[in-house]
Amino acid sequence: MIRIAIQAKGRLNEDSMALLTEAGMRISESRRKLLAQAEGFPLEVLYLRDDDIPQAVADGVADIGIVGLNEVEERGKDVEVVHRLGFGKCRISLAIPKEEDYEGLSWFSGKKIATSYPGILGKFFSENGISANIETIAGSVEIAPSVGMADAIFDIVSSGGTLVSNGLKEVEKVLFSEAVLIAGKTLSEEKRQLLAQMVFRFEAVERSRGMKYMLMNLPQDKVEDAVKILPGMKSPTVLPLAQDGWCSLHVVVREDELWTKIEQLKGIGAEDILVLALEKTIR
Ligand code: ATP
Ligand code: MG
Repeated sequence: MIRIAIQAKGRLNEDSMALLTEAGMRISESRRKLLAQAEGFPLEVLYLRDDDIPQAVADGVADIGIVGLNEVEERGKDVEVVHRLGFGKCRISLAIPKEEDYEGLSWFSGKKIATSYPGILGKFFSENGISANIETIAGSVEIAPSVGMADAIFDIVSSGGTLVSNGLKEVEKVLFSEAVLIAGKTLSEEKRQLLAQMVFRFEAVERSRGMKYMLMNLPQDKVEDAVKILPGMKSPTVLPLAQDGWCSLHVVVREDELWTKIEQLKGIGAEDILVLALEKTIR
């Protein structure tokens, strides 16, 4: 049995749950408890606030956890980042009032900066020889400059829209974050093995993200042209058809390239193109 801590509610909850489900670890949604048993894998799920996840994993309350890299860095707990999960992407940046001239980090010397990430900011400033006043506040960091609480902020940015609507501009991107899988450093051999199995399943799910399975009928003498249109992947599978001179071609394509590939393939005579969802890719 292995115990994973995930965010109880908030931005990472849904993707964390979806990842576990797609990896064959179902958690019944009915009457969700603080601690739930998964089906399909010897896994317990502990629902916590994201702030508490690094500590829970460091202390062994949970064996592993899914949390933003930003929280891992901020808490500074002794945990291992096992795997990047590719969702919950954001960055933590320094932003200043938009009318200010900005010529470099020295702008921040002697200034007051509001943030919920004093640990990361303190480290960044000391590495860069900047001495500034870090004002820790729990929320609504972006309004601090306009109400006179601070000269600048250090906060999470995803699109940048919140900054603009508060009259701020992003001047330094300090940390790029995404959800990560973390583990305690003293897991038993049994738990290490379960963790490796989970990572294997997560990778299979990740490889299939944004990929489609495509099959089509193609004149036999166009197979070489089709292979040129579909570079970068292993050769497509070619199966004979009952009708002479035709074959069935199967291939995995990236979703963002799907329509250009379809148009090119139609151009060389492909017919009856089917596009199917790709659920897992096992290597
Ligand atoms: P909790 O109640 O669990 O403490 P929270 O309010 O601290 O939740 P959320 O706003 O749910 O946290 O964000 C969780 C994580 O999602 C962040 O720590 C960060 O890693 C990631 N994230 C991705 N994009 C954003 C964004 N635009 N704003 C805030 N967090 C983001
Ligand atoms: Mg939090």
